[in-house]
Parts: sequence; structure tokens; C-alpha cells
Amino acid sequence: MNTHVAFDFDGTLVDSGAAIVRLYNEVADRQGYGRMTAANLAELRRLPALERCRRLNVPPHRLPWIVLQVGRRYREAIDAIEFQPGVADLLTTLRARGVRLSIVSTNEAENIRAFLRRHDAEAWIDEIHCSRAMFGKARLLRGLMKRAGLTPDRLVYVGDEHRDIEAGREVGARTIAVRWGFDDEARLREADPDYLATHPAEVAAWLATRRA
Ligand SMILES: [Mg+2]
Repeated sequence: MNTHVAFDFDGTLVDSGAAIVRLYNEVADRQGYGRMTAANLAELRRLPALERCRRLNVPPHRLPWIVLQVGRRYREAIDAIEFQPGVADLLTTLRARGVRLSIVSTNEAENIRAFLRRHDAEAWIDEIHCSRAMFGKARLLRGLMKRAGLTPDRLVYVGDEHRDIEAGREVGARTIAVRWGFDDEARLREADPDYLATHPAEVAAWLATRRA
């Protein structure tokens, strides 16, 4: 039975970090929240979400609204977003092996589809599962397993944030944390992923040793 690999979108597949910081800052300026800057970003990448909120003076209950506002503005930024280096090769390598691929994201499905269309990559991805709930990824992964008829041992979730790894572990999937996204390495290690990848090619190699 083939493995099914689900990817987080922002940070993991695409280099949208700078765009998201810029869109967040637009929202923050209007609301009087703290900005993400070159000076505080390294520290924010190390912190749990609630601690990030505290540093930025963002009430945690406003997070879903902020995610919504950033998601709406994201569509205009999409032309400036590209695959992370090496990721397009990773996806085509896995496809060539017959691995089924999904995207599980808190971005909006329409944004993700627009990106894939622009890169002629729609055919690479079998399913896109989205929810605006910042911590709703475990539910999305359960929905994916149900629809695809997968047991947890056949699912691998690949993400760039602690919350991605936590969600994958919660549903019993194997997890790969990637070092080229938002959370810093120490924060990723705290989530205890099955594998920590420095380059996309390592993801394909690790999966190959697990016959995926
Ligand atoms: Mg991400």
C-alpha cells in the first residue's frame, strides 16, 4: 500500500514568509498590534504561538480574524510567491514514484489553487484540505484519512511549524519537519518530528528508506 504524503503550504512548499510578514504588518498597523521586524523575527520564530501573541500585543482570540484578513490579502501577493528551492523537484520525484500528495493548510484553497495553476502544478496534488482554524490541522488530517481511506501509518505530514508536527503526531501520522520555513530548528525539535529535513531532496530520500 502506498504512502500518502500531505504537505503544509506556506513556508513548507512555498517561500511566502516575507509576503505573510508584510500582510500581517498591514493588518497590525491598522489595529495597533506590534509589527514583525528584522529585529524581532528571529526571536518570534523560537516562541510558542501564545508567546508570539504576547510579544506582538495581539489578543489570542483575534488570531482567527487575523488569519482571515491575511488570507484575503494573500491573493494579491500570490504572483510574488514561488516554490521553495528544490520543492518542485521533490513533488515530481514523489509523483513519479506513485506517491499520492495532498496539501493541508490554514491558507485558503482558492489561494493554493491559484498558485498551483500559475505553476502548472495542479496535476501533482490529489487533494487540498483547508481550514482557517490555526490549530485545526489535526481535524483536517483526520478528514483526509477518512476520504482517502488511509490508516495513520500510511500518512506522512510535512510541515515547517511546531503546530504542524503536533497535529501530525496527534492523528498518529509520521511527521517530517522542514528547516527552510518559519519555525526555527529548536522549536521544531521540541515537537519531536520523526525526521528533520534541511533540504527537500532529503524528504524524498527519507521516504524512500521507508518504501514510500
Ligand atoms: Mg507553514
